[in-house]
This record gives sequence, structure tokens and C-alpha cells, in this order.
Amino acid sequence: NSTKRAYNFNAGPSALPIEVIQKAQEELVNYNHSGMSIMEMSHRSKDYEAVHNDAIARLKSLYSIPDNYEVLFLQGGGSLQFTMVPMNFLNSDQTASYILTGSWSEKAFKEAKLFGQIREAASTKDNDYRNIPALEEIQFSQTDSYVHITSNNTIYGTQWKDFPQTGGVPLVADMSSDILSKPVDVSNFGIIYAGAQKNLGPSGVTVVIIRKDLLEKANTNIPTLLKYSTHAEANSLYNTPPTFGIYMLGEVLKWVEEKGGLEAIESNNEEKAKLIYDVIDCSNGFYYGHAHSESRSLMNITFRVSDENLEKQFLAEAREAGFIGLNGHRSVGGCRASTYNAVPYETCKALADFMVAFQNKNS
Ligand code: PLP
Repeated sequence: NSTKRAYNFNAGPSALPIEVIQKAQEELVNYNHSGMSIMEMSHRSKDYEAVHNDAIARLKSLYSIPDNYEVLFLQGGGSLQFTMVPMNFLNSDQTASYILTGSWSEKAFKEAKLFGQIREAASTKDNDYRNIPALEEIQFSQTDSYVHITSNNTIYGTQWKDFPQTGGVPLVADMSSDILSKPVDVSNFGIIYAGAQKNLGPSGVTVVIIRKDLLEKANTNIPTLLKYSTHAEANSLYNTPPTFGIYMLGEVLKWVEEKGGLEAIESNNEEKAKLIYDVIDCSNGFYYGHAHSESRSLMNITFRVSDENLEKQFLAEAREAGFIGLNGHRSVGGCRASTYNAVPYETCKALADFMVAFQNKNS
């Protein structure tokens, strides 16, 4: 059966909705009776521009993005944003504060040090990044150019539930691994950025949502392509954008709308994650989670099997049974099930059942 889907728990790139892949397949050779694939078209053509503007409009509508924000489609992944944010908003005599909740925030922090004076606003490193810091632990200065957070920590399996209120200091969030998974009040943020390859579509496009007044404050003596304003002024068509990725993003956004929008997606995600967290919690310690329960992610479920040899056996048998991508990140080991938007409920149920059966057989 050519449409039989793998039980795909990959952390990224990860599962896409089957409906979106099938639609792309139908349109792949002949988009809108043009006799061309969308990826063969000029990025200045009417057909492509309609796709491009439609994706921007849908993202604005799904998040109710206020008019004083721009939506940009860039390249370079989440990682280039670690550079672009400080390059645009810091000089050597300016400060920014970073909240460290895992390896991706560490990378962003390290990169920012190339541009300005960077402070740690809070860190849970001493705790192996098992939790998100309490809001009252966060220390930043009203003179900071911005405060940076990672909204979901893909490797450690933690996620912010309530975002810090930073008053007049712009909050910058790397939402690479939980964008589009729940409603978010965009007006709390100065910048939101995300590589596409988890919830948004294939890798290659990076979404940036940026408050317009920040564009005016940005440094001007930096390379053209790394300036947010270059892309804002050109509607993200300054140079050739990743056209196929943006087309796919538009289709994913339509799929989210058809599912009922971000509230519906969030409750779906809660139900899916609960299936697996419940198995961990009810296993009498056979499985245990990495993240503290109040900081647990709905996107990346990180856990261990209490016995190291059994853990190896668990991962091997799971692979054999058709579960893909359950190995933890190479830097931390253990197990990780990534349950992004497009991972079906049935796939999570299959994993939960497999985990219960494995425990029954081995304890
Ligand atoms: N930020 C987070 C939270 C991520 O999970 C990742 C990748 O997994 C990145 C940044 C890096 O993204 P990219 O590979 O698109 O540069």
C-alpha cells in the first residue's frame, strides 16, 4: 500500500500531514494548469506570488498577528537567526539577556556574544535542563536591547507554558520546535522565529514575525541579505525565496485551518502527548521522564528506560516494530518521541501500547 505511513517520531525534519503531501503530489507536475511545477516557476510570476502572499495572509490570520508586525520568509534555518538577531539589534556597547534552557539557547547565546554584551537572565543547566525557570528567577535589565528565549527545547523535552513579561524590552523567541502547535499572543513578542522543518513544512524556509518599529531601530552597517529590513521592504522577495517550501507551508497552514485552527491543534497535541506521558507516569519507574512534569513539552517527549540494557532492547524492538526516530538526541541519549502537529493520534496510541506491552514482557 503506497500510502501506508511510518510511525514517524523524528525530531526534525519530521512528519508532515499526509493530506498535504498528497495534495502536493497531485499538483507537482502541473500546478494550476500552468504546465509547470510550482518549483519551476519564476518567483516573480503571478501564480507564485499568489502562493507567497496567501501563506503570509494565512499565518497572520491563524495567529491574529497585529498590523504592526511583518511576516518574513528567510533562509538559513533557525541557526542563522542566532546570528541575525544580535547582528541587527546589538552594538558592542549594548546588552541583551538570554534565558538558557538547553543546547539551542546556548548556541544562540554564544553567537550573540560576537556582537554585544550578553548576560544570562536565568539558566537551568545545573539541573540538566529538566525544567523551565520560574518567572521570578528571570533577571534582565530595562536597558537590554532584547531578552531571548527558546520556547520549546527539542533536545530536553521542555516547553514554556507562560511566557515572561518583559515590559518595554522586546522578547525574542526561538519557536522552531513549537510554532503552530498552540495559540500564542504575538503582541507579547518583538520577534518570533522558526525553522520550518517541524510543524511548518519542509526544511529550507525560516519564518520570522517581527514588530515593525524594531525594523527601524536595527543596525544599518550590516550585510544587505542579513538585514531584516531588506526582506521586509521586498515582501521577502529581495532574492529568490525557497518557493517550494513556501508553497508547502501554505498547504500546511490550510491544513491547520481545516483542523479547526490553533486551539483545536493544541487540544489534539495535549491528547496525543497524554497517551505517552500517562504510560511513563503509570509505569512504577520502569520508564521515567527527563523533564519535570510542570515543564514537559507537548512536542518532544524525552524519557529513559530504568535499566540501560533494557533501554537498548526497547529502542531496537521499537525500530523493528516500525517506530522511527525514538532515539534521544546524540548529546543526551535515552529516548525521545516527537509528537508534532502532523503525528496522528493513532501513531501515538500505537507507541503507548507498544510501551505498555514492552514493560509487561520485561518486568
Ligand atoms: N532552534 C531549535 C529550538 C531547534 O530545535 C533547532 C533544530 O532542531 C534549531 C534552532 C536549529 O534549526 P536549523 O537546523 O533550522 O538551523
